[in-house]
Amino acid sequence: MRIIFLGPPGSGKGTQARFLCQTLSIPHLSTGDMLRLAVEKKTFLGNQVFEYLKKGLLVPDDIIIHLIEEKLEQKDCEKGFLLDGFPRTILQAQSLDHFLEKKKLCIDAVVLFLISPSIVLNRLSGRRVCSVCHTLDHISQMKDNTKNKCKKCQNDLIQRPDDQEHVIEKRLVVYQEQTKPLIEYYQNQNKCFSVDASQTESEVFSAIEQNLFLKTKRQQGVI
Ligand code: AMP
Repeated sequence: MRIIFLGPPGSGKGTQARFLCQTLSIPHLSTGDMLRLAVEKKTFLGNQVFEYLKKGLLVPDDIIIHLIEEKLEQKDCEKGFLLDGFPRTILQAQSLDHFLEKKKLCIDAVVLFLISPSIVLNRLSGRRVCSVCHTLDHISQMKDNTKNKCKKCQNDLIQRPDDQEHVIEKRLVVYQEQTKPLIEYYQNQNKCFSVDASQTESEVFSAIEQNLFLKTKRQQGVI
């Protein structure tokens, strides 16, 4: 299956993508993770995109389209893939469609994560990430004696520069203005279904599984 996760930052796309990719045995393509790794390793790409990430702005379309097409050409994507954080603009969506059409392929489903900006702000401003193994935690779930240490490897937890409140607000504006128009784009293709992303992780995952199952059955003409 070829799936897109669409939703604002902090809506849980990354967590759900990891669950679903494990279940379906398909690669998880997170453009945010790819770019952060490039920044961390100080590669040419990393140096090109560093300022955009820091400010919560979108990286230029040509850079990100090139990056994702390179990944999609790899063998492990032949049996399907899950795109998390891509596309984020109409131009990115159109070029993805064009890229897949040339291979006589298409996107099977787009999962839309619905969540209010106030929950996003709370989730992201309290989010901490391990500086070594990148495991996520939240300040509301930390006990005093383990504060600021990773629960898996005990290394230091840090706050992502783009998880500071003023950058989160910027990222939400960018989502509204540049990414939200994609909902209509994929609704017109009849590819979209939505999930209430404010629920618990397991409730969101069940909703995704159930909707994907129904969508597949409908496409096969079984129901
Ligand atoms: P994320 O982890 O998906 O929220 O992405 C973190 C940051 O990476 C975003 O705020 C953008 O600066 C950049 N980014 C990730 N995906 C894209 C994309 N598809 N288009 C442009 N910029 C992106």
